[in-house]
Amino acid sequence: MKAAQVGASEYDARIRRADDLASKHPFAAEVLRFYSQVAEFQKKLYAEVKKDLSGKSSEGVHIPFRPGLPAAEAIKLLPKLTSFLNLIEQAAPPALAAAARAVSNLDATSQRCLLQAYWELGGVNDQLVGPFAQFIPRAFAQPLAELFATRTTAPPAMSTPHDCPLCGGQPLLGVLRPEGDGGKRRMMCSFCLQEWDYRRIYCPACGEADEKKLPVYVAEQFPHIRVETCETCKIYVRTIDLTKDGNAVPLVDDLAAIPLTLWAQEHGYTRLHSNLLGT
Ligand SMILES: [Zn+2]
Ligand SMILES: [Zn+2]
Repeated sequence: MKAAQVGASEYDARIRRADDLASKHPFAAEVLRFYSQVAEFQKKLYAEVKKDLSGKSSEGVHIPFRPGLPAAEAIKLLPKLTSFLNLIEQAAPPALAAAARAVSNLDATSQRCLLQAYWELGGVNDQLVGPFAQFIPRAFAQPLAELFATRTTAPPAMSTPHDCPLCGGQPLLGVLRPEGDGGKRRMMCSFCLQEWDYRRIYCPACGEADEKKLPVYVAEQFPHIRVETCETCKIYVRTIDLTKDGNAVPLVDDLAAIPLTLWAQEHGYTRLHSNLLGT
């Protein structure tokens, strides 16, 4: 699998979709307006780092995609992290602004370690960390992970991989993309946001493949979003169905679907991997 190209136009599409959904769903407006500001920053960071890397071949990139982020590379990112923290302190809801202030007050070594720790564990072993604690390194590292994924080629897979073939991250979301008369199921990585093909009837948490134990719920309010549950392990994955709404931008439509998160919690389901804002 060769990663899809990402660039300014993808970020612009996310920002536009966030603005559209904010006017459509007042309950999600605050979350989406904040996300737009984060995505503007990510777009700039992506472009800056891409420029730094231009001319270097993929083999010559000093930052291996995983598992490690060398200290020298992390140190180079610290001034950009400072700009990001300033933005979050000004724009974020109080809990996230406080998290940004706490990171701002760390010394440079601790900030570097925070980036390195997230780069190693993000999307793989971060489920024990709450969404607020991981927000800062996750939002900051996301464009870097997207960029490095585009410069990586996964080894050919023998069977459908459970986790991202490029970086080992867990699935964040399912995506149904139009193919023939139906939809092809793909998974989007929680760390590098790349997609890979996935079996249609299969729980990514426990491997349940009996359709009767994998009920799918769709709310009237979001006809293009499927809550794909598993009765065996009680984990669910949210899937954005692009055959139902071709304008959807999976990453952003997921952030807006706050009522579906509440519904799943009330019914005893736990999400496989939370989104950036825990919505
Ligand atoms: Zn990945
Ligand atoms: Zn399961």
